[in-house]
Amino acid sequence: MPDKIQRIKGTNDILPGETEKWQALERVIQTVMMRSAYSEIRTPIFEKTELFARGVGEDTDIVSKEMYSFEDKGGTSITLRPELTAPVVRSYIQNNLQQIAPTTKVWYHGPLFRQERPQKGRYRQFYQFGAETIGSPFPETDVETIGLYWEILTELGISDAVVLKINSVGDEASRETYRQVLREFLRPNLGEMSETSQRRFETNPLRILDSKDPGDKAMTDHAPKLVDYLNESSERHYKSVLELLSSLEIPYEQDDRLVRGLDYYTHTAFEFTSDVLGAQDAVCGGGRYDGLIEELGGGKVPAIGWASGTERLLLVMEALEKSQSLTGLDCYLAIPGDEQRPTATTLIREWRRAGLSCDTDLQRRSLKAQMREANRQNARFVVILGESERKNGSVQLKSMETGAQSEMSIAAALKMMLGQA
Ligand code: ATP
Ligand code: MG
Repeated sequence: MPDKIQRIKGTNDILPGETEKWQALERVIQTVMMRSAYSEIRTPIFEKTELFARGVGEDTDIVSKEMYSFEDKGGTSITLRPELTAPVVRSYIQNNLQQIAPTTKVWYHGPLFRQERPQKGRYRQFYQFGAETIGSPFPETDVETIGLYWEILTELGISDAVVLKINSVGDEASRETYRQVLREFLRPNLGEMSETSQRRFETNPLRILDSKDPGDKAMTDHAPKLVDYLNESSERHYKSVLELLSSLEIPYEQDDRLVRGLDYYTHTAFEFTSDVLGAQDAVCGGGRYDGLIEELGGGKVPAIGWASGTERLLLVMEALEKSQSLTGLDCYLAIPGDEQRPTATTLIREWRRAGLSCDTDLQRRSLKAQMREANRQNARFVVILGESERKNGSVQLKSMETGAQSEMSIAAALKMMLGQA
């Protein structure tokens, strides 16, 4: 017997039963994006390695150890995309999107690849959906962008279980002042810091605040805060963002350790986390990146965006027992006797054409087995098409929510299921 082939470690099959949840989530994302006038963008799965080296940064975990890179037959170094901001920016520059409108508002959803240690909520192929708003430096743009994610959480009914953490890393001048202050603070203990942090001390001290090493964490606990070194215009920007969030009643917590340690990140940095996730508690990360487009060869164009892990968001839904609500049939048509099957065939087509999701039994099983199947599929209604009812043109309609069952005409049942009765 040949060996069974297994999927690659850290990848997932998204199976029937799960795909329904993904699609329902995608419908919510699409609806919210459409309402806010964001258009979908779809870029290639692979890009030149250089794009990520420059666009994400050599010094990051992603580029230094997580990328799936290979040489193609032409000798070009290629990388399976580990994130989507750099590809979106590449595409924005290459396709001159700034010529179409002064503000480009795009969203995406697709698979990403990172060679990490697989665990719950952390995979080697995973999905992110995200949004980028390119072309406006103003604080209301930050809030428009952050607010988009909030709308998705609200629409899914999980905004209570998720916390927005926010900080400002200021503009380049503010950060330069702070870098000096931070170096002076850390210098006496430099020898005791982790190797990575020692290396970053000169090149990128801000990233030391991001270190997961417990020793580094303890050492930076009482470090001076970046927010205390913002210059006036950076402080004004941050204050406006917070005020606008409050006016929309979007709750936030200021987190002065939250940094995005690369030069092209500016001002607003944020993360959405959820307690229900355990160790991997981040569902979404984002921030303003006013220097990135220039870094990738475009103009001096400000931008802000976020990316959310799709699997992580579905784990939140699961933990809150909300994911069941994403799935389910409108109607299961149960057929007690095989003589009713021809009638059922036309009836179910009519209801499907009316827009209901309907299924029926294709195994010629007992009524009891069919009712079990209706339950398994989380049907809102079961319609029973019995012999006596069929003769007088009526059916039994059972609401699976309330358990109430009554006989009525086929037309009345349809109305009821469409929510028009
Ligand atoms: P972490 O600190 O957890 O590694 P990150 O900084 O690498 O997160 P981002 O690159 O900002 O995360 O990605 C945004 C979101 O994508 C995360 O908040 C998370 O929900 C999701 N995500 C990141 N890496 C993975 C992964 N390997 N598997 C599943 N989801 C992921
Ligand atoms: Mg990571």
